[in-house]
Amino acid sequence: MGIFLKDINLKGKTALITGATKGLGRGAAIAIAEAGGNVIAIGRNQKELDTLRKEIKKFKVNYVPFSCDVNDYNLLKSFITKLKKLDILVNNAGTNIPEPFLNVKKSSMETLLNVNTKAVFNVAQLWANQIIKLKRKSGSIINISSVVSSIIGAPNRCIYGTTKAAVIGLTKSVAVDYVKQGIRCNAICPGTVDTPSLHSRLKDTGDYEKAKQDFISRQPLGRIGKAEEIASLALYFSSDESSFVTGQTHVIDGGWSVGWNI
Ligand code: NAP
Repeated sequence: MGIFLKDINLKGKTALITGATKGLGRGAAIAIAEAGGNVIAIGRNQKELDTLRKEIKKFKVNYVPFSCDVNDYNLLKSFITKLKKLDILVNNAGTNIPEPFLNVKKSSMETLLNVNTKAVFNVAQLWANQIIKLKRKSGSIINISSVVSSIIGAPNRCIYGTTKAAVIGLTKSVAVDYVKQGIRCNAICPGTVDTPSLHSRLKDTGDYEKAKQDFISRQPLGRIGKAEEIASLALYFSSDESSFVTGQTHVIDGGWSVGWNI
């Protein structure tokens, strides 16, 4: 963590993080805890939620795990409406099913729209309702979109890109609706980052090493990103250091979206 980020203090703040069991969500949870913030972690895998507890313990912050599918609106609602403290939302849970446009299955479309868009909408709405009920005068929503959205296209990502473009639209609208209540809403748009989901996408191609090289070769910076690098940006948006930033999309992609001819 850089010097500037080391100074970020989230003591007394509480972050709700979806998809906190692995990858980018886990990275954000650890960074927020390291900065002194309390963590409410949502994921489906109870074992991984327990592992995260062990990692977060050393930071001496409160840790509340909640095993839940983000598609289960009623379960989410019953949990979020009981929370007494909330300041930050890292709306991160998401998934990907790479398929060429003409072969996209209806079931894939349903899955991606449900997890990447509808659940992101539902969690943000439940969180905002609760934060207003708690009479909080400030808050920060960090939606995890993707550079593959309304920013760039990538092969076999038409549904994924559609769902992530919707997250950018949602981010801007929520930012406008809640700006007077002190709630900021920003989107992080990562490029290719080393997480468990990336490894399964590489395996699914049938030639892991070649697919990895292909992913690296499209990176002007010559490498894939690390979860910690995305967590640094999430930490910035979690803190008052970003108090003048709302409704924006923040690309962090090693230069991928800049293009080839640089
Ligand atoms: P990952 O390694 O697959 O982790 C995904 C997380 O989301 C896991 O913690 C998983 O938890 C949770 N999750 C998935 N479906 C869920 C559901 N229905 N209910 C509750 N939790 C669910 O993925 P990642 O690479 O860290 O990606 C995180 C976010 O970043 C996603 O929104 C993804 O689209 C976005 N992103 C990733 C990349 C990248 O290159 N890695 C690039 C751009 C954007 P459980 O397994 O415990 O349920």
